[in-house]
Amino acid sequence: MRFDGLIGNYGIKKTLNTPFHAYIIHGPKGSGKHTLERILTASLLCRSEDKPCGKCSQCKKYYSGNHVDVSYIPTDMKVKDFREKLKDASYLPNEAEHRVFVFYDADKLSVACQNALLKIVEEPPSGSVFIFLTENAGAMLATIRSRCKMIAMEPVSEDEIYAYLQTSAYAGVPDEKKRAAIAFSDGYIGAALDFLSKKKSDVYSKCQNFADALINNRMIEAIRLSTFKKREDLVEFTKELYDYFTVHMRSLKSGTTEGLNENVIALGQEKLARLCVRLDKLQEKANANVNISLFSTAIIANCLPIIREKQ
Ligand SMILES: [Zn+2]
Repeated sequence: MRFDGLIGNYGIKKTLNTPFHAYIIHGPKGSGKHTLERILTASLLCRSEDKPCGKCSQCKKYYSGNHVDVSYIPTDMKVKDFREKLKDASYLPNEAEHRVFVFYDADKLSVACQNALLKIVEEPPSGSVFIFLTENAGAMLATIRSRCKMIAMEPVSEDEIYAYLQTSAYAGVPDEKKRAAIAFSDGYIGAALDFLSKKKSDVYSKCQNFADALINNRMIEAIRLSTFKKREDLVEFTKELYDYFTVHMRSLKSGTTEGLNENVIALGQEKLARLCVRLDKLQEKANANVNISLFSTAIIANCLPIIREKQ
C-alpha cells in the first residue's frame, strides 16, 4: 500500500501491508486519523498493484465520493436502526474486492451498539472490512478492541511538520508563528494547522498583549483585553490563553523558544505549568453559567499571583 499522503507514522505504514477485517485507528484530534482512513479505504478498493493508484475506476469512484461499497455509519444511532445498517455487511461487495464500513467518533457508540457489532467483527462476512476512528480507544469494549487491529497514530517530528507547513497554505506565515504552531501541535499536523487558522491567530495576538499587560502591571489594559460581551468570545479567549501558555511551556521543555514572547518564557516552566492548570479549570467555568462581565477579574485573579511570585 502507498502511504505517501500520510506524513511520518513509519511504524503504521509497515504494519498495514496485509489487509485485516477490522481496524481501530486512534489518536488525538489532528493526528491524521482521517487521512490514514482515506488511504486505507482507497487501498482496499483499488484494483491496481500499487495501491491506492488514484487512477483505476475504483479509486476514481471513491475519490469522487460515490463508491457503492463504502458506507459511513453514524455512531449516535439507536441500536435498532444500527442493526438495520449493519445488515448490508452480510452482502458481498458490489464492485470492489471489499466492502468498507467506516465509523467516525466510534467512542460514541453505545454499549448496545457495540454489542451488536461484536459478532460481526468476530466472524466478519466475506469481503467486509470495518474501520473505527476514535480519540479514545478506551471507550470501546475490550471485546471489540481485541478483535481489531489497533493503530495508534504516531507524533511526527518537528522538522517533518515544518517541511509540511512550507508546502501548505501557511507557507507564507512568519517563521515565529510556524514555530509556535509546531510547539503547540505536540507532533500532530492537524493541530498545527488548526493553530495557524486565521481566526485563531487574531485571538493569539490578543493573548500575547494580555500576557504582556499582566507581566508589566498594566491592569487597565489587561481588564480591557479580557472583558467580553458574548460568552462564546470569552470561552474562545480562555481556551486560547491556555493554549498560549501551553505553547511557551512546551517550547521551554523542548529548548526551542525562538520567536516566542520573552517575557512569558522568563516566567519559567514551573510557573507556566501552574498557569496552565488554573486556565484549564477556568475554561470549564467559562463554559458554565458564570457572570461573564465579572470573568475578567477571575482570569486576572488566577494568573496574577503566580506571575508576581518571586522566582
Ligand atoms: Zn486504484
